[in-house]
Amino acid sequence: THFRVAIIGRPNVGKSTLFNRLVGKKLALVDDQPGVTRDRREGEARLGDLRFTVIDTAGLDEEGGAASLNGRMRVQTEAAVADADAVFFLTDSRSGVMPADRHFADLVRRAGKPTILIANKAEGRAGTAGAYEAFDLGLGDPIALSAEHGEGLAELFSALLEAL
Ligand code: GDP
Ligand code: MG
Repeated sequence: THFRVAIIGRPNVGKSTLFNRLVGKKLALVDDQPGVTRDRREGEARLGDLRFTVIDTAGLDEEGGAASLNGRMRVQTEAAVADADAVFFLTDSRSGVMPADRHFADLVRRAGKPTILIANKAEGRAGTAGAYEAFDLGLGDPIALSAEHGEGLAELFSALLEAL
């Protein structure tokens, strides 16, 4: 079956923007099952000459406190990671590493899946400088990316190839 990559990270780091960037116009289904998978979206991603299924997870910002990883968000994220062959772990280069990033990073580390650390919003000089802070999460070298501007996709492609 198809290779699956889950996009994981705290709310507002740009997961859905990356999902849309990877899926382009071929946006597929919106999962409408009740419960923990309700907010999950899947689509067929293109990156270089790779084709894979990409899974977007919802932020549920309205429920989550700044530092807390609320129960439903954690369950949904754990399920998405468990179903995935690899993880794109997103951080925000502009805000710096926050406590919630560490919660998600711990969750992903425990799952033991190949994980690519992505410092998103890295366009421009401020973003490039901020990207290196993500190294602190202990998930390897961050790929500096701008999902919004489509920068860093070649580096992401290379990193995914290496992780497989
Ligand atoms: P999610 O909650 O992780 O799914 O994040 P979203 O994809 O909804 O993005 C949250 C906000 O970050 C939105 O205002 C996006 O436009 C913005 N954003 C996403 N990617 C980038 C990026 O590469 N650069 C900048 N500057 N903003 C971005
Ligand atoms: Mg989103």
